[in-house]
Amino acid sequence: MTTIRLHNTRTRSKEEFIPIDPDNVRMYVCGPTVYDRAHLGNARPVVVFDVLYRLLKQVYGAGHVTYVRNITDVEDKIIDRAAERGIAIDELTRTTTDWFHQDMAALGVDYSADAGFREPKATEHIGGMIAMIEDLIANGNAYAAEGHVLFRVRSYADYGKLSGRSVDDMIAGARVEVAPYKEDPMDFVLWKPSSDDQPGWDSPWGRGRPGWHIECSAMSLALLGESFDIHGGGIDLQFPHHENEIAQSCCAHPRGQFARYWLHNEMLQVEGKKMSKSLGNFFTVRDLLDQGVPGEVIRFVFLSTHYRKPMDWTEAKAAGARRTLRKWYEQTTDDTGAGEVDPAILRALSNDLNTHEAIATLHDLSTRGESAALAASLRFLGLLGESAPEWAAESPVDAGTTALIEQLLAARAEARKSRDFARADALRDGIAAAGVIVMDSASGSTWDLGPDFDLAKLEALK
Ligand code: AMP
Ligand code: ZN
Repeated sequence: MTTIRLHNTRTRSKEEFIPIDPDNVRMYVCGPTVYDRAHLGNARPVVVFDVLYRLLKQVYGAGHVTYVRNITDVEDKIIDRAAERGIAIDELTRTTTDWFHQDMAALGVDYSADAGFREPKATEHIGGMIAMIEDLIANGNAYAAEGHVLFRVRSYADYGKLSGRSVDDMIAGARVEVAPYKEDPMDFVLWKPSSDDQPGWDSPWGRGRPGWHIECSAMSLALLGESFDIHGGGIDLQFPHHENEIAQSCCAHPRGQFARYWLHNEMLQVEGKKMSKSLGNFFTVRDLLDQGVPGEVIRFVFLSTHYRKPMDWTEAKAAGARRTLRKWYEQTTDDTGAGEVDPAILRALSNDLNTHEAIATLHDLSTRGESAALAASLRFLGLLGESAPEWAAESPVDAGTTALIEQLLAARAEARKSRDFARADALRDGIAAAGVIVMDSASGSTWDLGPDFDLAKLEALK
């Protein structure tokens, strides 16, 4: 069996992955809070952990992996947004969840027919959250005060271990809310009271709603048990969200281990800058799709950077990905589906999800003309999901390349007209050598990009 090695944030080292039960490998990833369209950064963990899920299924068998990614459908951002828009909370969460599914499906992440995937909603697990909070109070790790229940951070000696920081350092660096009902400013909310116009559930502490952190602890317990294998999410969730999940789960179920391997993806930036509304470089996945950037191009760009490195989204990368995919689509048009995933792809992914190296392998397969293995490997990575004509229709050649080809063809026609046959022939040969297929007819020339289109060669002809 392939050995998978993963970088575990908890130990800060790459470790051999040994599942608790190879017949049921279990992974939990923090899912979206459904109040708005997913932005491009939100899509990164979705794609990263999709690749890991595919790898686990390949190695352990599709029926032997359970992947849970929750939907946070009760949270203050949701309450605020529904009020702003004047719509009911369940309408907002339902619409946003549908958007999320559609946008992620465009990126090759569609689990609608996947038996190993579970998508619990927080609102379906309130009973489990209340039970866990009761256990925490009984164990002395939490206390009720003024309709709130708070986790007593100082009661858990290992708090901060995931991040490798002391509680005092974390307090210094965090925006902790001071409130009169807290014993310590570091203590965080497990349960809070709801007013009549806010969503709420009856509980031993009055009508209220859960804090965000307890949602993941309760949902992972319900679906994966006290101990499971992998917990994932963006690095921004490491503290406080993941520290708090660990504190809650380990104190409520001291015999369990909670998650054994913690994986965190780095953040996404845009053209070298943090994506932010104030910088005007904030966009959603849907914005890009609507601008005609195919979902597979987004996925390909994501895969080109290792998940533990900051990823820079640039237009140049998107244009490059589009050209490469176009070439591979054309190279694999006759594929019968009989090829196998190249072992070098599995080796690269098994080395802490080295997707960058996997893409280098795809290039090798393409160069060597191994189109059956190329097609199988592309599909395994969640690419090549369309037929070549669909892709070509959706993904026309970018405007710059089109203009250059048109310009060179015009120059060739001009050379012919002025009987400069040497120049006309040099252009014809150069264009062909750059991988552009030109079809001349009485009514003029049409062209298309061949599988080994090479923009640099074309540019050299200018
Ligand atoms: P949020 O909506 O902020 O709770 O984020 C939802 C998910 O998106 C979490 O897993 C975050 O870690 C992830 N995320 C948010 N912003 C970024 C970003 N710029 N790059 C990568 N992941 C992000
Ligand atoms: Zn979580």
